[in-house]
Amino acid sequence: MFYKSIEKAADSYDVIVIGSGLGGLTSANRLARAGHSVLLLEHHHRLGGLATWFKRKGHIFDVSLHGFPYGMVKTCRKYWNNTIKNAIVQLTDIVFDNPQFSLKTTFDRVDFTQILINKFGITQAVVDSFFNTVSKMNFYDDRTMTTKELFEKFFPGRSDVHRLLMEPISYANGSTLDDPAITYGIVFSNFMNKGVFTFQGGTDKLIGMMQEELEANGVTICTQSKVDRVVIENGKVKGVAVGEKVISAPTVISNSGITNTIDNLTGREYFPENFIGEYDQVKVNNSSCQVYMGIRKGDSIPEVGDLLFTSTAPDFEAVEMRAMNTCSRTFSIYYPKTRPEAPDYTIVASMNANYDDWDGLTADQYQAAKQDIIERSFSDLDRYIPGARDKCDWVEAATPKTFNRYTLHTKGTSFGTKFEGLNISRTLFKAIPGLFHVGSVGIIMSGWLGAINYGVIVANDVDAYLRQ
Ligand SMILES: Cc1cc2nc3c(=O)[nH]c(=O)nc-3n(C[C@H](O)[C@H](O)[C@H](O)COP(=O)(O)OP(=O)(O)OC[C@H]3O[C@@H](n4cnc5c(N)ncnc54)[C@H](O)[C@@H]3O)c2cc1C
Repeated sequence: MFYKSIEKAADSYDVIVIGSGLGGLTSANRLARAGHSVLLLEHHHRLGGLATWFKRKGHIFDVSLHGFPYGMVKTCRKYWNNTIKNAIVQLTDIVFDNPQFSLKTTFDRVDFTQILINKFGITQAVVDSFFNTVSKMNFYDDRTMTTKELFEKFFPGRSDVHRLLMEPISYANGSTLDDPAITYGIVFSNFMNKGVFTFQGGTDKLIGMMQEELEANGVTICTQSKVDRVVIENGKVKGVAVGEKVISAPTVISNSGITNTIDNLTGREYFPENFIGEYDQVKVNNSSCQVYMGIRKGDSIPEVGDLLFTSTAPDFEAVEMRAMNTCSRTFSIYYPKTRPEAPDYTIVASMNANYDDWDGLTADQYQAAKQDIIERSFSDLDRYIPGARDKCDWVEAATPKTFNRYTLHTKGTSFGTKFEGLNISRTLFKAIPGLFHVGSVGIIMSGWLGAINYGVIVANDVDAYLRQ
């Protein structure tokens, strides 16, 4: 059942899921399939969280459908359905263009190996050794080595190679050279396995299919239902409060950010001191800016690649990538093949960003800063699609404030928290029985694949808890 408000929800469920990001959707679906009664509450008017889209002047803009790893094929088949799996297709033209190198790649291990040998002059033995090392990295390995140290070990002094290996991952999850090497290794070997993939039909189609399955499995869905509080009684979860309405459940899964979950939805006072001590070390990840460009119907643009990692910065530098005046951005180009049923050309420029740079601007400064990123994006795009601006009949920008408004995430974080957040998320239910968290934490669990897989893991935890 799908309701556009909380009014028709029942008084009690086995599980309440707060938030309908890919993690929340997946947990809700798995638990309903396992026979539990599930209520899914979302504050926005549509499902999907950051996996979202919006319509303007006949265009559909995808916000976070830029590329995901091949692992999505197996994950969607196993945990959703074959129709969803069958719509996953490869993006074959990934372009890098910066002062250190320009190249096109299919972004898989075979092609990267050739590029590293033939274009960067690295020996086959070193390349193989690097790939073998990162592919064996796992969560329980030593966390003291940084990504920078890992790169220096295999490619000393080669900032061009570091850039090739790191830039896409920085866009994909906000990580920097100072983050633990294992987080890089796990994410990179996922991405580099068989290339970059997308969902044909767009985010709207994917979320529509997920909604159908949730309803078929009996999940009660209420949108425009912002949870104000997780209700705790005698140290255990009792339910949630949405405005005046209290709904009871022995388990609550929060897909709200982990910082929101602890500080705002629950309250620090309910957690043991040592848990809060560890939680206070958690750092939230950066946010994003985007510029959305719609090409007038009847006009077209040439095929210049699916995903363009562009920069005029002399070196890769995570701080530069997040600055308001960054000259590093990715262009995702959506050709008619993206939505064969409603062919269109749209372009999304994405930049990493710091919430604090945007917060506190006056209304006029904010508008001017948005216009500035639009101008910079067009000026950069001109190198690949000259005159694209004249073909656009819609342009608008999103900032960290936009992401914060739509998802409520602390500082509009695009990728949850840094590595320390994972343990907090995984041990939440030990601090407060019945309270679980799913969603972007710790770099590894973020992104479309990470969020869905984490949704499965948390659903298994909740199922075990309910069956105790
Ligand atoms: C600009 C951008 C580009 C990205 N590009 C990619 C990409 O190309 N590939 C990729 O794999 N990943 C990408 N990502 C990351 C990916 O979108 C996210 O990691 C993933 O979608 C997060 O899922 P989640 O389960 O953590 O929940 P989220 O998507 O964060 O959703 C959380 C949900 O909880 C809801 N909520 C919060 N608080 C409450 C409350 N109190 N009551 C009710 N509801 C609440 C929010 O409204 C939201 O719907 C991108 C992210 C951004 C921002």
